[in-house]
Amino acid sequence: MDKYREVADLIKERGYVVAFTGSGISVDSGIPTFRGGQGLWEKYDPMEYAHIDAFRRNPEKVWNMLREMAGVIFAARPSAAHVALGELEKMGFLKAIITQNVDGLHQTAGNSTVIEYHGNHRRLICVGCSAKIDFTEVEARVLPYPICDRCFAPLKPDVVFFGEPIPMLDMIRANEEARKCKLMFVMGTSGVVYPAADLPHLAHSSGAKIVEINMEETPFTSSISHFFFKESASEVLPKIMEYVRA
Ligand code: ZN
Repeated sequence: MDKYREVADLIKERGYVVAFTGSGISVDSGIPTFRGGQGLWEKYDPMEYAHIDAFRRNPEKVWNMLREMAGVIFAARPSAAHVALGELEKMGFLKAIITQNVDGLHQTAGNSTVIEYHGNHRRLICVGCSAKIDFTEVEARVLPYPICDRCFAPLKPDVVFFGEPIPMLDMIRANEEARKCKLMFVMGTSGVVYPAADLPHLAHSSGAKIVEINMEETPFTSSISHFFFKESASEVLPKIMEYVRA
């Protein structure tokens, strides 16, 4: 039997599916990965621009990059992989997505339960009073950078910068879903960023089948993956969906 069909059968048989996604699945949407050494990150050293200390020291400098980043994210459209996951939720199989991405494309593709491990670039948060505001409601072009209208501290995208902790509530929800799922898709993630990389291990030790879709092998491939597709998720998921629909 072909592997796509085997996974489709498992989805239907097991029912509770969770997807764990990383930047690889947004590459087809035109968003460069951190580790790929392309696009924005060739121009901006992540440690110099995506570290919370750098932001606190010089919000103006970091906002120059953030505006450009926002342009890339707001122009991006869901890939075939995002769309397939939207459909899998509508069919009742996919119960949650745990993502390391901050682009909000899973929600654009129609997914409603999205646990954002590293936050969302489409939302801003005040570094002073933690107020949250939709990016589009703020004149982000305000120079040198947008500030909170309550406490006048700088606003930053509500994403986890280097040097910041993962929000506790999201971590708890993600662990819960990893423990509950019967099948976990692991895709577009290098498997080296902790604590997020613990999640597939947690799912595996709780009895879930692990279906990995990645362009390169990862630490998961030989240790816990039951299936490994060395292809883009935008190629693999639509093929699996054909069998799920059948
Ligand atoms: Zn504030």
